[in-house]
Amino acid sequence: MAYIEPAPIKDKENPFESMMSRFDIAARALGLEDQVYNVLKNPVKQVVVSLPITMDEGTIEVFEGYRVIHSNILGPSKGGIRYDMDVHLDEVKALAAWMTWKCAVVDIPYGGAKGGIKCNPRQMSAGEVERLTRAYTQSMIEIFGPDRDIPAPDMGTGPREMAWLMDEYSRARGMTVNAVVTGKPLVLGGSLGRTEATGRGVMVSTLTAMEKLRLNPSRSNVAVQGFGNVGSYAALLLEERGLKVIAISDLSGAYYNKNGINIKETIAYRDTHNGSLEGYGGTEKIHGDDLLTLEVDIIVPAAKEDVITIHNADNIKAKLIVEGANGPTSAKADAIINSKGIMVAPDILANAGGVTVSYFEWVQNRLGYKWTAERVNRRSDRIMKDAFDNVYRTSIEYNVPMRIAAYIVAIDKVAKTYKFRGGF
Ligand code: NAD
Repeated sequence: MAYIEPAPIKDKENPFESMMSRFDIAARALGLEDQVYNVLKNPVKQVVVSLPITMDEGTIEVFEGYRVIHSNILGPSKGGIRYDMDVHLDEVKALAAWMTWKCAVVDIPYGGAKGGIKCNPRQMSAGEVERLTRAYTQSMIEIFGPDRDIPAPDMGTGPREMAWLMDEYSRARGMTVNAVVTGKPLVLGGSLGRTEATGRGVMVSTLTAMEKLRLNPSRSNVAVQGFGNVGSYAALLLEERGLKVIAISDLSGAYYNKNGINIKETIAYRDTHNGSLEGYGGTEKIHGDDLLTLEVDIIVPAAKEDVITIHNADNIKAKLIVEGANGPTSAKADAIINSKGIMVAPDILANAGGVTVSYFEWVQNRLGYKWTAERVNRRSDRIMKDAFDNVYRTSIEYNVPMRIAAYIVAIDKVAKTYKFRGGF
């Protein structure tokens, strides 16, 4: 279910430049000194490795793997690993920096990192994916570590890959080190609540934003793009809180019903149909791209980057966009969205629920103690709500959109910490 097909590239802006343009605006608003700006702009480490893997039929294929540590100023770096044919260094750099800002926005003691392997796991056997994951871990053995750099799942990876990574790392160290990675299966020290954590954070961000916009959940509707881990849990939890989910989508297309879609049912359908919504009845099938421009109160892009662009931003009718995915809005589309008065709960805030519960998993591993789901959810809901309120206050104080406010909160925290720690 965590797997995603190679995503089509549409109007792809350079994701690193896209992130940097927002960073620049926030840095200026904050009056960040040039020297600190330069420190925060550049990733501290970029690693590219070649991974020769023996495939099942005996041939050897070479895969390219990446790990970028953007910052370790606030603490060990943290970030997911994606398996996707579209992964490239620039994308990993952008996602690593996003992780720095995301951890800082929700005030957890981590820096930011990201990794990836250019591969198509759907066309590989479990054995091939395992060998690839173990080879990648071996190549990164001096990079990873519970006090250095802590990976997690992202597109195309899940608990299975994290278990292999933890095992490979532990073998190399000669002891069980479960805090080296998060998003593990529960029996290996995974946290209760981790699977649904990002979708849950999207739900908390949506409801907190709705309070500010005075939108009543029981009279509001929402369209969710992407029906994987983030999208399906966000849809389910929003439905449970009274919102009507009128459209959902995945790679097979978008499914629309103005009277609302039963999300429990669609999840069950997906789980028994190869992870896809293809053929789901009781809805009208519409073009995937049309979901974002529906007549709807809220849209939740929870699939991939660069889906809201200068080509469709003007046609968006929602009052609120809650970014479940990383980088779903291109930098050039920001101005259009802002001029229309649409509130955006930006990715580095809205999808930080996952990293928050990852942090809880690491804390529990280090304590050697397991929290209840109730404790995990209560603590993560509070962190998400406090973070949203802080960003909202900052957006009013600086008179800037929520996205820039989130960057201001994050950059300010990392810059202040850097100044206290000092450099060479
Ligand atoms: P996933 O692989 O579980 O699901 C992705 C979903 O998006 C699938 O349903 C897929 O069919 C669909 N999709 C892909 N391209 C699409 C398109 N063009 N139109 C419509 N649907 C499309 O992935 P995920 O873990 O849910 O991650 C989704 C996004 O959220 C990514 O940007 C990821 O970086 C981000 N994110 C995930 C987490 C997490 O904890 N899983 C945390 C933070 C951010």
